Amino acid sequence: MTVTPVQPYQARKEYLCPGCERTIPAGTFHVVVVPDDLPDLRRHWHQGCWHKELRRRYGSQSPPR
Ligand SMILES: [Zn+2]
Repeated sequence: MTVTPVQPYQARKEYLCPGCERTIPAGTFHVVVVPDDLPDLRRHWHQGCWHKELRRRYGSQSPPR
């Protein structure tokens, strides 16, 4: 999976964060997560929600690359 930061100036649209199901307003720093095997399933996350999700999925282990 590839995690790409999106800088505020690059965030021109509003997105729905799958972590908290709230919108990420345009102009907000966030991350885009693309699974390597399912590139169509790219999702925009609040950075904090993504970190929580990583802990939920992987606990204290490092995420696989
Ligand atoms: Zn969120």
